[in-house]
Amino acid sequence: MTEFKTDNNTLPHQVSSAGVGRVKVLLPLPLSGAYDYRAPQDQPLRPGQFVTVPLGRREAIGVVWDNVLEEKGGAVSDDRLKDVIGVASTLTLPDETRRLVDWVARYTTAPLGAVLRMAMSVPAALTPPKPRIAFALNSAAAPDASAALKNVRLTPARSRVIDLLRDGPPRTQKDISFETGVTAGVVRKLVELGVVLPTPIPVEFSPPKPNPDLAGPLLSAAQHEAADVLIKSVGAFSVTLVDGVTGAGKTEVYFEAVAEALRQGKQALVLLPEIALGAQWLRRFEVRFGVRPVEWHSDLTGVTRRAAWRAIARGEARVVVGARSALFLPFPALGLIVVDEEHDAAYKQEEGVAYHARDMAVVRARIGDCPVVLASATPSLETVVNAGAGRYGQVNLPARHGGATLPSVHLIDLRADPPERQCWLSPPLRTAMTRTLAAGEQALLFLNRRGYAPLTLCRSCGHRLECPNCTAWLVEHRFRGRLLCHHCGLSSNRPKACPECAAEDSMVACGPGVERVAEETAALFPDARLMVVTSDNIRKPSDAAEFVRKVTEREVDIIVGTQIVAKGHHFPDLTLVGVVDADLGLAGGDLRAAERTYQLLHQVAGRAGRAARPGAVYLQTYQPNHPVMNAMANSDRDGFLRVEAQARKAGAWPPFGRLAAVIVSGRDEGAVDGVSRELARRAPVREGVRTLGPAPAPLAMLRGRHRRRLLLKTGRDVSVPALLRDWIAKVDAPSHVRIQVDVDPYSFL
Ligand code: ADP
Ligand code: ZN
Repeated sequence: MTEFKTDNNTLPHQVSSAGVGRVKVLLPLPLSGAYDYRAPQDQPLRPGQFVTVPLGRREAIGVVWDNVLEEKGGAVSDDRLKDVIGVASTLTLPDETRRLVDWVARYTTAPLGAVLRMAMSVPAALTPPKPRIAFALNSAAAPDASAALKNVRLTPARSRVIDLLRDGPPRTQKDISFETGVTAGVVRKLVELGVVLPTPIPVEFSPPKPNPDLAGPLLSAAQHEAADVLIKSVGAFSVTLVDGVTGAGKTEVYFEAVAEALRQGKQALVLLPEIALGAQWLRRFEVRFGVRPVEWHSDLTGVTRRAAWRAIARGEARVVVGARSALFLPFPALGLIVVDEEHDAAYKQEEGVAYHARDMAVVRARIGDCPVVLASATPSLETVVNAGAGRYGQVNLPARHGGATLPSVHLIDLRADPPERQCWLSPPLRTAMTRTLAAGEQALLFLNRRGYAPLTLCRSCGHRLECPNCTAWLVEHRFRGRLLCHHCGLSSNRPKACPECAAEDSMVACGPGVERVAEETAALFPDARLMVVTSDNIRKPSDAAEFVRKVTEREVDIIVGTQIVAKGHHFPDLTLVGVVDADLGLAGGDLRAAERTYQLLHQVAGRAGRAARPGAVYLQTYQPNHPVMNAMANSDRDGFLRVEAQARKAGAWPPFGRLAAVIVSGRDEGAVDGVSRELARRAPVREGVRTLGPAPAPLAMLRGRHRRRLLLKTGRDVSVPALLRDWIAKVDAPSHVRIQVDVDPYSFL
């Protein structure tokens, strides 16, 4: 077991003048600070220990906290202090994790306890699993005719059990039954007779140890060079961008850094945006390190989650691969963090504590003095700017592994080559598909829209079917025969008559979703085997694995999918990618609309021609002159980033300025407006600080709540969290109106 680092100088105890020892305990509840409790006299408590304390009429588990900055109200007097009830676990929350919690709370302005809750996401993990009972031979009843055995009638069944237990370790009831065929009753009787003794055996899960010294794949010269840089970085804080084209082998390269962390006896964390899609990744890890890593994502069972958390806290889980929340796991000896696909928007958590896992990974690494590796073929502008300014290191992998070429990219101008009426695939794309299928290769049609049609409207009166709870259209899902709201989940039947003008059979589907494109494709290519892939049918890792298997084993000719298929996959025979609506992400006022569209198109294009057969990408667009389309057509990523950076710089937008969103929401529209106006009136007035709004949020109503948005825009040198805290503290909002803060907002919903 790895020893925890306890080089902590701040003592949690403060002894008052009256000689009463106090300890600060932070509870995983939305509280902004720790509470004082009376420390037990006989048992000194250390920071990070989990303790049970009284809270009102109940008991709660919290963490002994140190470095507590803010004093909440007046301190409780000695005589009103409540006692710590006891230590809740042999595990502790490491120093680094506590400092991360502090940091994230300060930066996001979330209550400290709410952030702690993310680090205590598995309360059940604090208690060890119940030991299992195994049975051993009572040594007093050992082989040669001891007293105990003399009085026992040795039936054949009993003898079999005794013979089994005579040589070998204690066995569980199940094992005994399995090996001897006797029933539980026989064993119970032997226990009663004193021949066999029940003994508890610990069932703590010890993950198998990855072996850093297995022979990995032979690295190319460029890969080798990049790997060397990463290997050398292990041991101290640094951030390195691995900038490599899709298919360059970035994974194989950062595996070498993981290996180095293992050799140094440290733990490593690899963050992936969509862990559910990591089946291929897991297999490659296993090939490189001999065993599977410990996984951390929302799809684990309770038992697995608990076992993983404990193994990580004990330092025995050496490599963890996880979704963004894995950052808050209690690693006592973290030696490396990899953020794969670092540009991915899935790293931003919007609900609850709004944080960006890539940015907080850098914070966590700084606290733990370990390196971060950011990997991407389309790094975020933030990261590119940091690398350009020399704050981050950078290694490049400019070519695909094994001599595979990058796909050729073709723009299809839909104004010149429109599809037929009520169809979505243009003649050039159809021709390309025909050719691909004739050559025995696979095609991917990409459309980032689930369902059949994004809008249903009445031909007679123009009425649109909207969600009553959200500012959003209802999306038709024809496979399921439902209309769904993608924001609140509302599900309803498709009406026969228009709910507005009562015209019969007048409701028509407008625009395509993947289901509709699949319908058209099936009609065009009746012999092709088709698979629709969206989050509607890929829900679990096993679904994703099955999808990968089907495509890899050539059971599928054409994939029609959303962004769920855009990333990570490596399908050697997939040579054609058709993007049905390349303009889709460009609409709307999102600051990062162009950047994100470019990244997504680049990623999906990167699925084509990853092996021996060259690939081609067709982008259907109405805006062939848009900078994003130009950059795609000319493979000019850096040119695009330069233009994008200039535009952001000119407007002092991130990453050249700072931004925070304040969302006011509630069911009472008048009250929401009132609070929003009050916020605007009390907005900070300072050089280099501007507030924009209030304006209706783009999703002006969500789940029945009205929403207004204010934006705080400042220079880079302004401490936004402090400003926000002061500002919001000035405004009295009724309890039914919620004020949410999102520092560095990503989506502008
Ligand atoms: P990226 O993440 O950069 O898009 P990957 O890491 O997925 O690329 O690598 C693409 C493919 O090439 C994978 O199948 C990977 O196993 C293979 N590959 C990469 N480097 C090597 C190597 N040195 N030897 C053998 N196969 C490699
Ligand atoms: Zn809705």
